[in-house]
Amino acid sequence: NPAALVQALFHLGEMVTATQSVSDEILELLGSEMNYNVLVVSPEDEDRELLERFDLTFGEDEGVDEDLEQRPPVVTVMGHVDHGKTRLLDTIRKANVREGEAGGITQHIGAYQVLTELEGNERLITFIDTPGHEAFTAMRARGAKATDVAILVVAADDGVMPQTIEALNHAQAADVPIVVAVNKIDVEGANPAKVRQQLTEYNLVAEEYGGETMFVDISAKQNLNVDALLEAVLLTADATLDLRANPDQDAQGVAIEAHLDRGRGPVATVLIQRGTLRVGDSIVAGDAYGRVRRMLDENGKDVHEATPSRPVQVVGFTSVPGAGDSLLVVDEDRIARQIADRRNARKRNALAAKTRKRISLEDLDSVLKETHQLNLIIKGDNSGTVEALEEALLGIDVGEEVELRIIDRGVGGVTETNVNLASASNAIIIGFNVRAEGKATELANREGVEVRYYSVIYKAIDEIEQALKGMLKPIY
Ligand code: GDP
Repeated sequence: NPAALVQALFHLGEMVTATQSVSDEILELLGSEMNYNVLVVSPEDEDRELLERFDLTFGEDEGVDEDLEQRPPVVTVMGHVDHGKTRLLDTIRKANVREGEAGGITQHIGAYQVLTELEGNERLITFIDTPGHEAFTAMRARGAKATDVAILVVAADDGVMPQTIEALNHAQAADVPIVVAVNKIDVEGANPAKVRQQLTEYNLVAEEYGGETMFVDISAKQNLNVDALLEAVLLTADATLDLRANPDQDAQGVAIEAHLDRGRGPVATVLIQRGTLRVGDSIVAGDAYGRVRRMLDENGKDVHEATPSRPVQVVGFTSVPGAGDSLLVVDEDRIARQIADRRNARKRNALAAKTRKRISLEDLDSVLKETHQLNLIIKGDNSGTVEALEEALLGIDVGEEVELRIIDRGVGGVTETNVNLASASNAIIIGFNVRAEGKATELANREGVEVRYYSVIYKAIDEIEQALKGMLKPIY
């Protein structure tokens, strides 16, 4: 029981209370003290174990060195807002459409490939089509390393700005080499030298200043020097990275975008990282599974095989995978389904565990014995009733030991914004003569936020009063 654990920790020299969270090390220590073997398992470890049960691994190429073949670099464009990321991605795409595909209908599927040239050789580059470092960081937070090289766009008329620094920090933290695109050199007052000078402070020293970072002055708007930028990306990749993968194995990749399409069902853009994905393959991505029914490229054309670094839109999942989920080809549909089911069950458990931490009127007793504070959000059908309800609730007399706080009120249905606030501040939402709007109920269920609906004022007051009384500190 909690008191015994607190006591055991006290003897080990750790002063904690029963509700405090403790580090993994302390849990392990506590385990050995109490003769239990405590295993701290990360979600990644757990997933690895799951895959091993099916004789699968993710993240490594099969075979020997000779099996590896060169693959195109995967590039993300980052930088401060309005410095030209979107424009650059558009210009690159338009100027380098692969031959025979011009005139195809451009589809924004989240990534595209362009064909360019380096020292007389034709080379491909894959661009992730969602600019900004949020996408990059979100994927990285999920353990997906999808980017090989980052292009840091800095407008020459504006110079280094807060998000420039943020972006380069993210890239450096991920060990991703950076190529700097000094953009908008067509604008009057552009000062590319200043950008170089500013960035030296952040360990990005231009080659011409004796450093190792390639800077290219461009105009995304006028398509000036953009080919030189692509060249710099390839040179940087060749100089610093060993971009090879085994194309002759079951495919592995990462979902970079997914949605539910009206006609085609769940659709996911997958970046292939190793192996070759083919129509007919059984696949699992996160807790979604299926069989590749169709693959489409960024021009909306059917693709039958996708090799490393190729982005393709995959049709055939039975549900929508999440961005950042890893994709794996398995031998049979049955295995794909089992892996997906297990991951799904785990996700539900984790959610339930998270939910349990939140308050509901039913378990206020136990949870709020320490806090003695009840937070409420009131939504009603008109301002008069909201005010009346607020006044009545605040008038409940339960002494000084418990505090009732109304942290937000308003006229209208219960919205997702209300739920988010409730979740962040452990509040209960009272809906008076109103209903939930949009996805508010779904979000409330997911976040474990309690929403109570009333149409009679005294009933609302009565229940809240009971709850508050239950929160009174027991007198010893
Ligand atoms: P993002 O927020 O970084 O994606 O920036 P955008 O690509 O949306 O560009 C912001 C604005 O700058 C747009 O109005 C672009 O047309 C403009 N812009 C982008 N690149 C250049 C450039 O090289 N020269 C000039 N003059 N304007 C540019």
